[in-house]
Amino acid sequence: MKILVATEKPFAKAATDGIKKIADEAGYELVLLEKYTDVNDLYKAVTDVDALIVRSDKVTQEVINAAKNLKIVVRAGAGYDNLDLKACSGRNIVAMNTPGQNSNAVAELAIGMMIFMARNNFQPGTGSELKGKKLGIQAYGNVGKLVAPLAKSFGMEVYAFDPFVPASVMEKDGVHVASSVEELYSTCNYISLHIPATPETKESINFELLTKMPKGGCLVNTARKEVIHEADLMKALEERPDLKYITDIMPGSHAELAAKFGTRYFSTAKKMGAETAEANINAGLAAARQIVAFFTKEDTTFQLNK
Ligand code: NAD
Repeated sequence: MKILVATEKPFAKAATDGIKKIADEAGYELVLLEKYTDVNDLYKAVTDVDALIVRSDKVTQEVINAAKNLKIVVRAGAGYDNLDLKACSGRNIVAMNTPGQNSNAVAELAIGMMIFMARNNFQPGTGSELKGKKLGIQAYGNVGKLVAPLAKSFGMEVYAFDPFVPASVMEKDGVHVASSVEELYSTCNYISLHIPATPETKESINFELLTKMPKGGCLVNTARKEVIHEADLMKALEERPDLKYITDIMPGSHAELAAKFGTRYFSTAKKMGAETAEANINAGLAAARQIVAFFTKEDTTFQLNK
């Protein structure tokens, strides 16, 4: 069995060492294609491999066509919009992600972003505290459910909205259950977005929702830029000089937002939610373990194209 790790942006050495150890123990061969700049190198490298591990690398129809022996591809990470699932299914290739492995890194960043906005982007001036404020967690998945205890430890009152998670799960965590997304926005001083980008959620964060937020409301986005209706965001920030937006996924209209809204708007230069040594290692090792479990036990727990 041959596993290829193809990463334009390589894993940390500790991760590749760990992946190699898992492959060795299973008796599999491991090959690395790191820092490639020409996609033809990827087409060549996948020709004879049985399994493929990628990070944000695009697994397109062309990659699938070139990978004659491929049986499984694992995206080391949560978001999987870089995998062409239809192309994988067309060849009965199992596609997986490694959910939950970088969640803590993203949850910590969401809290850090709240503090950064509450303290005027760390510039001189009087800020505010998180203690006593209401946080609305939009989607109580792997990341959302880790933000809740962190926020509670700061003395925040935590609310959540997720139509696919039973209310009892949130209540057990001491989280108030919002009955609608509108209720979440009209109740909370901070909203932390943890929804996936789906046809239903795309551009769903619109003017109407944003302007429901109480005075001084702050939206924190560590999810995906596609869920924001950017023209509406611009309008909401224009009409409500008290609203704030911070994101880990740079919007298309970044330059205009930055020029217009000063410290009320901030974007990281490059998505950094999962960029911790710990998350990097966890996701890589999980990908390798999932591949071994797939070949040895036909385990398809994290299959995306069932
Ligand atoms: P997850 O799949 O564990 O959880 C997603 C949750 O969204 C689920 O609980 C689901 O029930 C809920 N959901 C789906 N549609 C919804 C809707 N319309 N309204 C409310 N809830 C809805 O995902 P996760 O690992 O928690 O990741 C959350 C988001 O964070 C994803 O968009 C992911 O791509 C993004 N992410 C970003 C980074 C980063 O580097 N910034 C890293 C990891 C994940």
